[in-house]
Amino acid sequence: MPGSDAFRFGSRVCRSPPRRRRFRTSVFAAWALALPIAASPASAAPEKPSTSSLDIGTAKIVDLTYPFDDKTIYWPTAPFNFDLKSLAFGETPGGYFYAANSFCTPEHGGTHLDAPVHFAKGGKTADEISVRKLIAPGVVIDVSAKASADPDYRLSMDDLRGWEKKHGAIPSGAIALLRTGWGKKWPDKKRYLGDDTPGDASKLHFPSFGKEAAQYLVPQRRVGALGVDTASIDHGPSKDFVVHRIASAAAVPGFENIANLDQLPETGAWIIALPIKIAGGSGGPLRIVGLVSADGETRR
Ligand SMILES: [Zn+2]
Repeated sequence: MPGSDAFRFGSRVCRSPPRRRRFRTSVFAAWALALPIAASPASAAPEKPSTSSLDIGTAKIVDLTYPFDDKTIYWPTAPFNFDLKSLAFGETPGGYFYAANSFCTPEHGGTHLDAPVHFAKGGKTADEISVRKLIAPGVVIDVSAKASADPDYRLSMDDLRGWEKKHGAIPSGAIALLRTGWGKKWPDKKRYLGDDTPGDASKLHFPSFGKEAAQYLVPQRRVGALGVDTASIDHGPSKDFVVHRIASAAAVPGFENIANLDQLPETGAWIIALPIKIAGGSGGPLRIVGLVSADGETRR
């Protein structure tokens, strides 16, 4: 999410598309992942690696990303939404087909990254975040039953104690993903955000992390990132964005509007979360996937 109503957004910055380029070659890079991932990241605490080794070649890959299109949900105060323009589409005089588009988007909409600088002056920008931090074991904390009874629900210390009693300590460097069940409401903006008044972020209702939980996960458990299947790592009614501030102050990125979290086990998955590398960016569109081994799936 892009911040409170107090933030002022500039006017639309995308310019008209340049003249169509009709002749251009495309370069495709072929690559393959063949090696199994090690059991734990270099930054993992010695006390509790939560994952077994995972073979990328056989793992189930869960796409945790929503497509960017005209239904993509942005923060209500965003000055515009995702905009795709065709630059070329069709047969060329050379006798081959050619297609290319331009796109324009605020950084904070759809499945996206919050870089630490989003809520911390001098914090890391999108291009400065170590990719080591973005590829790590995932832990999924499910509060969907409580959130369905209270749309403003915040992850509590009781929830975290319950999770750790069942699975052990959340390891340092893990990506902590909060599952609220809100993905079922996407892309219905009113149901997903709790309110769809354009330009007004004062009446939002959706669940997310709570302050005490963030203070535990970030400075104590030293997670590598926080992620959630709602629009913000702070819950809808938040006015102080305290979870953003705790995470940003500790250089911990946030991942928002994560899709398909119901398809990940509570432990055992690996997360690969690679955002667009915008130099100086406060965030940006994120392609995030979960890798689940066959035995990991049984631990949901
Ligand atoms: Zn954001």
